[in-house]
Amino acid sequence: MNGKILILSGPYGEGHKQAAQALLETCRLTRPNMEPVIVDFMEWTLPRLHGISKAVFHQGVQKFPSVYGYLFRHTKKGTTLSAMSSRLRWYGLRRIARLLEDVRPSVVVCTFPLAAAAISALKQAGMTDIPAVTVITDHTDHSYWVHPGTDLYVVGSEKVRRGLIRSGIAAGRIEVTGIPIRPPFSTGAFQTDRPALRQKLGLDPHKPVLLLMGGGYGMMHEDAVRLMMESAKSDRVQVVVICGHNEKLRRKLSERLDCEAPGHDVRLTGFVRNMEQYMAASDLVVTKPGGLTTTEAIAMRLPMVLYRPLPGQEEDNAEFLTEAGLAVRATDEKQLLGAVLGLLERGDRLAAMRRRMEAMHMETASFRALEAIMSARCMPLPSWESQLAHAGV
Ligand code: UDP
Repeated sequence: MNGKILILSGPYGEGHKQAAQALLETCRLTRPNMEPVIVDFMEWTLPRLHGISKAVFHQGVQKFPSVYGYLFRHTKKGTTLSAMSSRLRWYGLRRIARLLEDVRPSVVVCTFPLAAAAISALKQAGMTDIPAVTVITDHTDHSYWVHPGTDLYVVGSEKVRRGLIRSGIAAGRIEVTGIPIRPPFSTGAFQTDRPALRQKLGLDPHKPVLLLMGGGYGMMHEDAVRLMMESAKSDRVQVVVICGHNEKLRRKLSERLDCEAPGHDVRLTGFVRNMEQYMAASDLVVTKPGGLTTTEAIAMRLPMVLYRPLPGQEEDNAEFLTEAGLAVRATDEKQLLGAVLGLLERGDRLAAMRRRMEAMHMETASFRALEAIMSARCMPLPSWESQLAHAGV
């Protein structure tokens, strides 16, 4: 099958980008005749302001998480956000229409909600009839993903599917595949000889590894990281802290490590491109529950301790993961330390979590997601009137 797949991603958080990249890499591996293209929706539609919008979003979320949580919760099911975005989405429409003309894709995939809104608007306006697929990158649904012009929703779990159906989306327009993760997470790397991999990464091959991370932007609480670094004083564990793009945190922690805890078994790093290796080398991860990181951890059979989720959005993720028995949640530093040390001593609990992860087959998520996307090219397109009536937007 020939043709182009246009994947529209966005810059708010790393998850949207990584899901897009996962689909691109999977497509190159499995369908060499197809031509996948990724475009950052904000960069394309707001070329001068997208950098500022990204900075404002990240600063806003980090400085005022409770405001973000409030907005998320109060717009989750309602139509407020859909109504707002139906006005906002017109702003970039002409540029997106030009992109479609240039690329001429046979399917458009959105891993970013604003892009899904814009494509939906184009379809409603009769400016395109290209099949539109939305890939939801969280373990929860939200009205900002739901737009009447979307032909197919690709989602991570039955829970998200049920949520979409409650919002009026027809069951036949939802595919549960798992959130797409990059192919290196699918190669069974978790089966690699762990001591050998640790050695390859320059870690102590014989000590368990505790991995600390906070998504692509290293959203971690400094005090919690320091506490975990303390635990590396004992001979029982070594700690790897991945700060992602958060250079400021990496520098601060590095200074602290030099003066307060020299000799501790701690590896500090910025953004890494071999996350699958770090996950495969680790015994436990402490993380905020981002959609991508947690799906990767499930694929790598890496039990999780969830700490300080982003209010609203990631709290829903945390609920899904703890209910499924894949993670435990800690709400303060004392609980965090207790959970980490407790789990590291309880091989049986870690093994039970790994067995549940194995049963979910997340390592094949991006392959299944791509199949579903390809099938959308042959789907009969619904009438917008019926979808509008269903979705109540
Ligand atoms: N990630 C990475 N290198 C890093 C830090 C993070 O590749 O140094 C990736 C991580 O593997 C995941 C994504 O960034 O794919 C984070 O996405 P998530 O949805 O978990 O959180 P977000 O960054 O969107 O808040």
